[in-house]
Amino acid sequence: MEALDQRGRPLRDLRISVTDRCNLRCTYCMPREHFGSDHAFLPKEDILRFEHIADVVEACVDLGLQKIRITGGEPLLRRDLDVLVTMLRKVHPDADLALTTNGVILERHAERLLKAGLDRVTVSMDALSPSVYSAMGDVEHGPEATLFGIEKALKIGLGVKVNCVVRAGVNEGELLPLLQHFGPRNVPVRFIEFMDVGATNQWALDEVVTSKNVRRIIAEQLGEVTPLDPTAFGEVARRWQTPQGWEFGTIDSISVPFCGDCTRARLAADGSVHTCLFSNEGKPLMPLIKSGASKQELQHAVRSIWESRSDAYSEERSAQKERPSGKVEMSFIGG
Ligand code: SAM
Ligand code: SF4
Ligand code: SF4
Repeated sequence: MEALDQRGRPLRDLRISVTDRCNLRCTYCMPREHFGSDHAFLPKEDILRFEHIADVVEACVDLGLQKIRITGGEPLLRRDLDVLVTMLRKVHPDADLALTTNGVILERHAERLLKAGLDRVTVSMDALSPSVYSAMGDVEHGPEATLFGIEKALKIGLGVKVNCVVRAGVNEGELLPLLQHFGPRNVPVRFIEFMDVGATNQWALDEVVTSKNVRRIIAEQLGEVTPLDPTAFGEVARRWQTPQGWEFGTIDSISVPFCGDCTRARLAADGSVHTCLFSNEGKPLMPLIKSGASKQELQHAVRSIWESRSDAYSEERSAQKERPSGKVEMSFIGG
């Protein structure tokens, strides 16, 4: 029987963070001053093993789970990720199984992931220009490796979308180049409003480029954009089309909160379950897992976590005077 939370929202999606480590230091996610060489990442023994992740997913199938997204940190840093994909495909053959990655090392992994049963990749890429890319990711290199990764994924038949976080005064000039590059390749680019996730990214409202402004910038250059119908209930991105027939999306979590449709749970690499991107702490499953819990016991635990959920942070954000402290970082629960 499916699980419904306090607001009647079903549990449909599970985002699984397989590591809290990353090979980039995007300023909006893992600013180097907080995630430097002295940062305490999770020790190996505190990270969920693949078998445990598969057990949790199996427990969620009867609760109504339809979509699984593997994420991180950078999930491709986790060794033998295709083994996890194989396991997840086995416990949930019908799931929509996707991976979110910065794509830097995607080219060498894409084929094995596809063979293991992955359906799609969402590749995060905030700029085509090498200097803007390296400024957003706080790295020395440009987007070349990520572009190769995307081409490889397309070539072998993985579904591909691109995520771009837009930060005022930094990469607004990249919206059109990204659209002009990916539009003709039938790769939707989803422009994400810079969010106040975590406690380290120095978020400020005046750095948010609203989806309305994204559409205005695009329409000024390419002509009027038209809305497209959602493809599924609870879809995060609103879909749009340019007169050239290029699809793009906007993720308007700041300007148009979508908590009412939020069907997503997040399993962090340490085995904690978070029912909102903006949560302060998760509910730990690790003790139960380590005690050798049965599928029924795990299912019961996840059900009770979901059924007690009433989160709607984005809807309530504007009513709050101050940013709550101690919120969990995006790189920990995976976006
Ligand atoms: N490392 C992978 C990647 O970048 O795709 C997966 C994890 S990353 C945390 C998942 C997504 O969260 C990325 O698309 C990233 O752009 C987005 N993200 C991270 N911090 C964000 C923020 N402050 N506001 C909006 N999106 C953010
Ligand atoms: Fe790493 Fe992804 Fe965060 Fe960028 S957004 S720092 S690639 S986890
Ligand atoms: Fe879902 Fe929380 Fe985001 Fe609202 S703020 S859409 S409840 S993750």
